[in-house]
Amino acid sequence: MIAENLAKINENINNAAKTSGRTRDDITLVAVTKSVGIDECNTLLCEGQNVFGENRVQSLCDKYETLKDSALWHLIGHLQTNKVKYIMDKVSLIHSVDSVHLAEEINRQAAKLDMTKDILLQVNVSGEESKFGMEENALFPTLEAISAMNSVKVRGLMTIPPVSFEAGANRKYFAKLYELFMKLKDNSSGNISADFLSMGMSDDYEDAIKEGANIVRVGRALYI
Ligand SMILES: *Cc1c(COP(=O)(O)O)cnc(C)c1O
Repeated sequence: MIAENLAKINENINNAAKTSGRTRDDITLVAVTKSVGIDECNTLLCEGQNVFGENRVQSLCDKYETLKDSALWHLIGHLQTNKVKYIMDKVSLIHSVDSVHLAEEINRQAAKLDMTKDILLQVNVSGEESKFGMEENALFPTLEAISAMNSVKVRGLMTIPPVSFEAGANRKYFAKLYELFMKLKDNSSGNISADFLSMGMSDDYEDAIKEGANIVRVGRALYI
């Protein structure tokens, strides 16, 4: 089942990418593994899918214990400052940085380990309906503060739109984040760059790609 679903998703990604002159290789699929166990992860690995996303620190650490660096791990969910230290040596990208305070802690822990950590800034482009992510108008002040940090690198932006039951309802939010991403591109320098735009989940990853995403985070559609 997983193999078939993955093949279909890869095909959909390729088709959506083509509408904007891109191909499958331009898009990173993060297989969200929060609802499955090691067996499913191993199946994904066998099928060549080796980027995994977990939304909780504990479950990421548990899976990492077994699978180690056979996968690239992305932390995609809300991250508490006091848990940063547990994931520093495990994750290749943190999608969910939503405050200067959190960036400071990642910077501090990265410096301790003599590494640089790649992060995305999570922006709430849908207003009140979503509780995580920084306000749009906090983005540039946050970047300003992070530009003085030596051990974190902003690589782009991420958003989680509100749950929607209407096809296409989130495209306006994806378009809005893409606009911010382009502004970020214009303002890139030092440790700030706009390489990755992480948006789109099981129900709307194709829309997100059409609106410019180059990272999509897909869970349910892999397993049903
Ligand atoms: C669970 C989760 C996803 C995947 O959602 P699905 O609807 O299962 O595809 C993507 N991003 C984040 C931040 C998540 O927590």
